[in-house]
Amino acid sequence: MKSAWNEFCLSYVEVELKTETQAISRARLGRARARLLEWYDANRRDLPWRRSDDPYAIWVSETMLQQTRVDTVIPYYTRFLECFPDLASLAEAELESVYGEWAGLGYYSRARNLHRAAQRVVEEYDGRIPDETASLRRLEGVGRYTAGAVASIAFDREEAAVDGNVIRVLSRFLGIRRNVGLPAVVEEFWSVASRLVSGPRPGDFNQALMELGAMICTPRSPDCGQCPLKRSCDGRRRGDAENLPRKPARPRPRRVEAVAAWIQRRGRALAVRPAEGGLLGGLWTLPGGELEPREGAEAGLKRNLSETLGLEFTNARAVGKIEHLFTHRRLRLHVFSCGEIHGRVRCRGFEAHRWLSPEAFAALPHGGPTRKALALLAEADPVAGGKRVRLHEPGVQTP
Ligand code: SF4
Repeated sequence: MKSAWNEFCLSYVEVELKTETQAISRARLGRARARLLEWYDANRRDLPWRRSDDPYAIWVSETMLQQTRVDTVIPYYTRFLECFPDLASLAEAELESVYGEWAGLGYYSRARNLHRAAQRVVEEYDGRIPDETASLRRLEGVGRYTAGAVASIAFDREEAAVDGNVIRVLSRFLGIRRNVGLPAVVEEFWSVASRLVSGPRPGDFNQALMELGAMICTPRSPDCGQCPLKRSCDGRRRGDAENLPRKPARPRPRRVEAVAAWIQRRGRALAVRPAEGGLLGGLWTLPGGELEPREGAEAGLKRNLSETLGLEFTNARAVGKIEHLFTHRRLRLHVFSCGEIHGRVRCRGFEAHRWLSPEAFAALPHGGPTRKALALLAEADPVAGGKRVRLHEPGVQTP
């Protein structure tokens, strides 16, 4: 519970910060705006989504770019638009084929939300993507940033789009040294960004700010000599740009131990699909589950297979372990290969199951841990059921 003193301190910070940012003159913001646009016109990267003014294509790119690097996104974006060239084709597609095109890009809830939101646009907006932020934000997976980006870039609306790049550039340029973990501080970034974006070419301006953050004002080594804002940058003048923005200490990711098993019957392997909604929900994976505190891996495997699938096994061979880091969790997955399995599958802990050839299993869209577990299995025992286990997209490390 917040104490009265904490409440007082927070409101004091809020008022003081508002006063600081409101004191930034219109003229200073106007000059920064003009310099940034000029720099952007001369230096912008030729990215595939910048060649299109189709709101659907812009929306797809903004969704893919969330927490993912530009270089990684480009081939996925190109392939996705070849497969689903317009909103109607995406809305009509099966979710599994959307996952298929997304496989390897990670954060699969983005694909699920994009697919559902495309269906909503068809049902509720006659297939036309809304052009203002309030309606955009009612769509699945569209947050404040994405709504601002789509509204400004695709529809020329004067809407701010504040992401990590923008916070970094503005905190350095304007000398905002408050902790960006505080909601009131983040709100002030939105407020300044809204003042900056007002004027002609709002979409280009937002992209210019993001581009500067990606190319020049980078997290560890800002290239101030090349920066269009260098003459009036507070962080550069004071020499503390590299320490900005001030961020709260990150909590250490929680350690989670889990088990997964490669189970074969007559040359086919068992794949299961957890219900949609969780971190990797809706994606096909190996049977298994989390261990309880102080539970041994083999005992945990027995319990999980019995509870979730009604299966008993007599011998399981430990193949090895893989590690996978999610934003808030560090997963250690103990991978097993099971011998003879007894009982019929009674799927209780999963939404669906299938017996598949190793190739068909490997070709399904998987999350990062399953991908790594399959690679481990292939390494330990390259021939499974007479067929080599192959990864769908080797080498991409994603949740
Ligand atoms: S001058 Fe340096 S610190 Fe300031 S905005 Fe430009 S790159 Fe960032």
